[in-house]
Amino acid sequence: MARYKDEQCRRCRREGQKLFLKGSRCYTDKCSISRRNYAPGQHGQKRAKLSEYGTQLREKQKTKAYYGVGEKQFRKYFEMASNKKGVTGENLLQILESRLDNVVYRLGFGTSRAQARQFVNHGQFEVNGKKVDIPSYLVKAGDVVTVRESKKDNVTLKINVEENSARPVPAWLERNDAELSGKVIRLSTREDIDLPIEEHLIVELYSK
Ligand code: SF4
Repeated sequence: MARYKDEQCRRCRREGQKLFLKGSRCYTDKCSISRRNYAPGQHGQKRAKLSEYGTQLREKQKTKAYYGVGEKQFRKYFEMASNKKGVTGENLLQILESRLDNVVYRLGFGTSRAQARQFVNHGQFEVNGKKVDIPSYLVKAGDVVTVRESKKDNVTLKINVEENSARPVPAWLERNDAELSGKVIRLSTREDIDLPIEEHLIVELYSK
């Protein structure tokens, strides 16, 4: 487990920036980026200038890390985004934001996407009254995501809700603290997404 946790920080150090993969620890001085802001490994302190391909690749890897998505699924999302009307890069981010684990995180029920994914995997949530334990489930406008009645006493969840109550919920979602639920008002747009991602680099990479 310790190895896995360390792996998250190595990803941030690889990208040279905070990806906020470990919840509250990311906001403390225990954050590895604050202490060792260079890439992991023997030659990590010598950051080489990246080629065009390298820059595009790092942007893709960083985005995958943010959302905790593997290569195969990320590629699938890219195909979905390409087949949708509109700007492919923006469509891609909208799809990633629509994942149930991300919605649970954005609503403040999880301190990180990884924790939110674990909650979903453990069957803590329902969508429109039906249990959904698939983190990659894509929400739609009008969906209501709720902590299942039998899980409302989960101590970690309660602490998260309390601690995250000041964390702003994006405009495309609405949280109901009393009901431990959230509504998808509409799907996200690029302006709603606060992550420093240059999605056009990912489109360029996959278009080669
Ligand atoms: Fe680790 Fe800091 Fe990255 Fe959080 S932001 S995962 S603590 S390196």
